[in-house]
Amino acid sequence: MIGNVGLWIRSSTVLCLGLFTGLAGQSVQAADCPGHPDAIGTERTIVVDPREHPRIGTMQYPETLPLRDHEVVLTFDDGPIPRNSDQVLKTLADNCVKATFFLVGEQARANPEGVRKLAAAGHTIGTHSQTHPLTFNKMPIEQAEKQINDGIASATAALTDPTVIAPFFRVPGLLRAEGVEEYLAGQGIQVWSADFLADDWHRISPARVFDLAMKRLEARGKGILLLHDIQARTAAALPKILQAMKARGYKIVQVVPATLQDPATPTDPQDWKFNPPSESVPIARWPKVPEFVFAETDTLAAPALSDFNSPDGKLLPSSEPLARARNRGAVPLPQEPPWPRAPDITVQTAALTLPVPAEALFTVPEDAHAAFRVTPPPRVAVADDDEDRPKRASRGRGSHRYAERGRGRARIAHVAPARRAPHGAAPNGKSAAHAAATPKRPVRVAALKKR
Ligand SMILES: [Zn+2]
Repeated sequence: MIGNVGLWIRSSTVLCLGLFTGLAGQSVQAADCPGHPDAIGTERTIVVDPREHPRIGTMQYPETLPLRDHEVVLTFDDGPIPRNSDQVLKTLADNCVKATFFLVGEQARANPEGVRKLAAAGHTIGTHSQTHPLTFNKMPIEQAEKQINDGIASATAALTDPTVIAPFFRVPGLLRAEGVEEYLAGQGIQVWSADFLADDWHRISPARVFDLAMKRLEARGKGILLLHDIQARTAAALPKILQAMKARGYKIVQVVPATLQDPATPTDPQDWKFNPPSESVPIARWPKVPEFVFAETDTLAAPALSDFNSPDGKLLPSSEPLARARNRGAVPLPQEPPWPRAPDITVQTAALTLPVPAEALFTVPEDAHAAFRVTPPPRVAVADDDEDRPKRASRGRGSHRYAERGRGRARIAHVAPARRAPHGAAPNGKSAAHAAATPKRPVRVAALKKR
């Protein structure tokens, strides 16, 4: 199968037309979901070209799907298994929701009927390796390639139309590796990480799965949700999740791969970055280290092996440290903070190059006084380090700066640092007050100090 992957991609590009043509732009609203007036439905379908965007999901990559505010893509991993996957399928059908499933090859071999049900229901089917090893980050590339291709072959074997399988792949445990990503990109296969989780591989209640899914969705405003259809707790939580999503104005989006006749949905490059959806979601406005990694795991019971055959139980604690990934550019660095900063005034240059003003410039006609009686400009509200301003102003008052002129020194009187650094930031960008005010943002502070 390894040698045939290129052919598989090309042939699927052509033969997928029958399945995916016509899906783009379709919308299944609640009104179109007979017998289920409260269904959330599927708002729209977007078509993506894996070659243009080979890695998506802000948990690990700079790009994610080009979703609008309040749009959600549902993904389910590790199936199919007869009971729980079937229950998930029924809930999705009752809501006229289309999702993306990442199948494990062994599961597909054991339950080919489950694969056929997914295809018949019109869901997007990606793959998730053959045996779900949690070693993709360190196994030899040849072994990873075999896992990938065997998984595709196993999912394909269940179907009469093998091109139904989409060129979408999720790395087991999200244990990414550059060699694996490069191989997949070379095959035209898109790597899917996620934007947020619901920790449903842990031994938590369905209510907790619901809470985490909604809390994290509300924090982001949109995104790719990673769930597991093999988990009973997920199957139990899903109806309530969809109900809450509808009540809070969220829309479900299906994603399908581009084909020759069904090209990618037009987007701008910026659409693939995570854009804060609105001013009403302030938490999303700050680039920060994602909190999904170890969130609440210290209070959870360890999952039992019997929970699942191919667990994501080691999903994140053993994944590559984010700091290391960030250093290689896999995770975007925090952006420059938006607060105003002191301009970098070069006093020496100004002193040497500015012409001496003519005396006439300081002569004011007597009838012009009225024009100067204007209301002073309003004070601009200052952030949390405002209290630092007087201290710096007093420290700077009375000091002098010197400019080099040849071998001698020209004296320039009373340059006031407080004016040059209105928010307590010293000219070099360091601000002890700011650092003290933001102890929970070490990355941002570190970035500040580099300037
Ligand atoms: Zn998995």
